[in-house]
Amino acid sequence: MPLRTVDPEIYNVIRKETERQKTKLNLIASENYASLAVLQAQGSVMTNKYAEGYSGKRYYGGCEFVDVAEDLAIERAKKVFGAEHVNVQPHSGSQANMAVYFAMLKHGDTIMSMDLSHGGHLSHGSHVNFSGKLFNIVPYGVDRETKALDYDALMEISRKNKPKLIVAGASAYPREIDFKRFREIADAAGAYLLTDIAHIAGLVAAGIHSDPVPYADFVTSTTHKTLRGPRGGMIMCRSEYAKEIDKNVFPGIQGGPLMHVIAAKAVAFKEAMSPDFKDYQKQIVANAKKMADELSGFGYDLVSGGTDNHLMLIDLSPLDITGKEGEAKLGEAGIILNKNTIPFETKSPFITSGIRIGTPAVTTRGMKEKEMVQIAQAIDETIMNMDDSGKLKEINSRMVELCRQFPIPYE
Ligand code: PLP
Repeated sequence: MPLRTVDPEIYNVIRKETERQKTKLNLIASENYASLAVLQAQGSVMTNKYAEGYSGKRYYGGCEFVDVAEDLAIERAKKVFGAEHVNVQPHSGSQANMAVYFAMLKHGDTIMSMDLSHGGHLSHGSHVNFSGKLFNIVPYGVDRETKALDYDALMEISRKNKPKLIVAGASAYPREIDFKRFREIADAAGAYLLTDIAHIAGLVAAGIHSDPVPYADFVTSTTHKTLRGPRGGMIMCRSEYAKEIDKNVFPGIQGGPLMHVIAAKAVAFKEAMSPDFKDYQKQIVANAKKMADELSGFGYDLVSGGTDNHLMLIDLSPLDITGKEGEAKLGEAGIILNKNTIPFETKSPFITSGIRIGTPAVTTRGMKEKEMVQIAQAIDETIMNMDDSGKLKEINSRMVELCRQFPIPYE
């Protein structure tokens, strides 16, 4: 029996969510539209299979086909990123990070990582997350003036605090990260270097962001952001750490791997090897730069002055508008993004001073610089007319029409 008959309530919310994705302009920097092929693999019978263990060494019978899927995912990921060893089983980016910490650290060991309000991720040591509860966190942030990383300052923190592991990577940092410099900073403390490329994995795969693989002991990622695969995580590392990493993913922190998701990861890695994918990643960055230029032109305060990657942060505090208000009003106008803390934030994470804007999803729809100009204009009109509901409605109609011209991949 089809879903529509078995569970009309869930059928209807999926239908409504599909409609929302079709008609709203998505500027959430961590989201994307996976391809139809990825969705098909993820929605397949692979979900029925238990496969605890690793290919050829499972704790269940009947794994001959899921083994092929996992082997393909691993081989393709190795090719895409040039990694020596890959584990594709982490259910999420957070679990990928957890597995690395548990493999290399003991409770109470020191991790040096980017502060959440400066752009880091919860799983890098926030006090509300397992990482902050189990480890001693030495945070680093961006420079107060430039709002970019000051590598000399990081070197000093590393030398002084001697962390056992340094995390390089972020959720809301608009500038290119110098992984070579991070290696030097880690070496100064004799620390392991973990680079978390969850946000920029697609850019790295396409060779348009500096490559962490030659410098890092461990590279973790999600597979669903710029990489445009299914929701999930992965770990890459040098061969010498392979056993420890695998052991800590399973049986360390997970049970049965999600074989349907792993099959979909394999599809995404195949897509990432195509020339189209490289063009797509270049366009993401070109679109972000165009959007940043346009918004700067309107006088908005871009954190660090612009962007090198797929995202930018706008500080709305000079306009006396909070991130929360900005997110809500732009949402009314059909523009979906998220409020975000900015470096040296003075407001709570529920309010915030900023908004984060990303171009991966609109670029998947086929939008280019010309459309970025229209979107920047719509953002400005919304912010300048926040209390004019008629105006917001009119902008929303424009955004619906723009979305209609650039459909999502499965209409
Ligand atoms: N690392 C970074 C840098 C992220 O931005 C994210 C997600 O936003 C994660 C890890 C965690 O990913 P997940 O939401 O799959 O746990």
